[in-house]
Parts: sequence; structure tokens; C-alpha cells
Amino acid sequence: MLEQPRTEGWTRSTWGRVAAMAAAIEVVGLVKRYGSRTALHGLTLGVEAGAITAILGPNGAGKTTLIETCEGFRRQDAGTVRVLGLDPHRQARQLKPRIGVMLQQGGMYPAARPRELLNLLASFYARPLPPELLIRRLGLEEATRTPVRRLSGGQQQRLALAAALIGRPELLFLDEPTTGLDPQARQGTWELIQELRRDGVTVVLTTHYMEEAERLADTVVIVDHGRLVAQGSPQQLVGGAPTSLEFQARPGLELTGLQGRLPDGVLVREASAGRYRVEGTATPEVMAAVAGWCAEQGVLAGEMRVTGRSLEDVFLELTGRGLSR
Ligand code: ATP
Repeated sequence: MLEQPRTEGWTRSTWGRVAAMAAAIEVVGLVKRYGSRTALHGLTLGVEAGAITAILGPNGAGKTTLIETCEGFRRQDAGTVRVLGLDPHRQARQLKPRIGVMLQQGGMYPAARPRELLNLLASFYARPLPPELLIRRLGLEEATRTPVRRLSGGQQQRLALAAALIGRPELLFLDEPTTGLDPQARQGTWELIQELRRDGVTVVLTTHYMEEAERLADTVVIVDHGRLVAQGSPQQLVGGAPTSLEFQARPGLELTGLQGRLPDGVLVREASAGRYRVEGTATPEVMAAVAGWCAEQGVLAGEMRVTGRSLEDVFLELTGRGLSR
């Protein structure tokens, strides 16, 4: 997929329609209940047009419910949802041709073959992308004659992406677009998503890969227990965060002397055997204190480096849980 040249159909002019809108999605006070369980508790959120927004949250946080409500597949119990200025439920017929949906679990005819399936889907749209273009761009040439149920997980995933793109959507929803892909296909999908943004397409994705959010997202939205807990660019979310200094040395060093040389609020600990972390704000003075103490102890510190807080650190602090499935 990576080696596919940029082909006709992927340029801004042929995609052909870049609407200048401030918000592609506006969600206000969204409540969704499943019986006695409340999945979304009055969630309010805006998604900027032309940007990539990543929705992160632990399992069961309400991400799929949120996305499916925006797609018009689920109806909310309270609150308002506007997608491209339309009500996804009442104005579904106007909205559906303008959005692309990548289903999490296939949702495709298992006996169909990819080319047939894409041709069929193309027939539903006024101005579809040529199926052959998508087959080439997504590296599905070798899979065109294989029934969907016999495709590998990665091929099914790429076919689902092709199906989501065939109608040249203005707004694309991707529920875990790279789950199950090998690293090369994942990289290729990231490049494709970035190309779509350059063409003015708005992309909303959920992911369990922090690196995916860090690489792609203009805005990260963190949802937990059906509530929005943070929204901002990856830089804003980690911004102003304390940095720390890390180094390696022989395990089991007595650190009391070093701690005494560090400013208030800066703590040193052995994070794992032989890996030391000086937590707080790393300054040139802190680094000099560590280096001076090491020299006195006759310790040669290896791999000394200053690190920032990662998006994963922020996520863990906000939700108390990891992202993994
Ligand atoms: P994951 O990361 O595991 O996909 P998620 O963040 O997408 O999770 P949702 O699938 O939106 O979360 O689920 C939110 C909550 O609503 C969960 O507690 C889930 O069990 C519940 N839920 C989702 N769909 C239904 C349903 N059809 N009937 C009953 N409960 C449901």
C-alpha cells in the first residue's frame, strides 16, 4: 500500500468539494441509556471541520455510542446532535450520502467479493470514487476475487475503509481503523487519512493506539464513563506538564544524598532495576546536580535524557485506566 503512487482521484480538485464550516459536529447535552445503564451522561462536544479528531476512552466509555448516534444509527434519549448542520435521525436521507462510515465488525456481505461489493456500493452514490482506484490505493489487488469471509483481518479492515470512502464523504467516521493491521498497512492507512485531511475531509476516529492519536489527531477528545473529560490538541493536553530526567546506572544506588541536592518538589526514585527517574521540572541545575552527585559516587550514568509527559500519561491520570482492549 505504501508504494502505491498518488493516483488520480486523490487530489483536492478531483475530490472536489471542500465546504468551509466551523463545526462539522455539534453535540449538546447528549444522553443515551440502554435500559437502566446510562452510556452517555449529557455529553457536549464540537468537532472542527477539516480536522482529524481522535476519540479516546477506556473500554465501555461510550465512544461507539457517541459515534453511532452521530451517524444516525442510534437515537439519543436527550440532547441535540447536529452533523454537517443536519439532524442525523430526522434528516438521515440528506446526511447519509455525505458521510462515510467504517464499521467495527465488518458489516459486509460475507459471500461477496471485494470488487463486486465496491461496485455495488458505488452504484448507490451520485459521484463515487472509481472502485479500481480504491483497490489500488488500499493494496487490495490480490484480494479482489476472494470472498469477504476468507479475507485476512487486515484485508477486511482495508476493504471496510474502501467502503467508507467510496461515496467521497465530506465527513468520515472510523471506528478503530487500524486494529488488526500489520505495521506497514497501519502506516499506509495513516498516510491515507492525512491525505484525506489535505483534501478537506473531516475525520473522526476512535482508537486504542495512543501513537495513532498522537500522530494523526489535530484534536483529541477523552471520554470516560459517558462524560467528556478532556479536549484539546495533543500538545495542549500534555502542555505545561512537568518533565523528568532519566538515567541508567548500576541498580540499588542509595539516593538520599542526591535527593538532598534537588530542589523542593523534585523527587528521585529507581523506577526499575538500574533505571532512575528524577521527577519534577527538569532544569539545567537539576541535570548538573545529578551529574555532580554521580561524579562523587564514581557512577557513570548512561542514557541520561529529559522526557516530557506523554499523551498516555495524561490519559492514565484522567481515567485511571489504560487504553488497551
Ligand atoms: P469499547 O472501547 O470497548 O468499544 P466504547 O467506549 O465504544 O467501548 P460503548 O460501546 O459505547 O463503549 O458502550 C458504552 C456502555 O454502554 C458500555 O457500558 C456498554 O456495555 C453499554 N452498551 C453499549 N451498547 C449497548 C447495547 N446495545 N445494549 C446495552 N448496553 C450497551
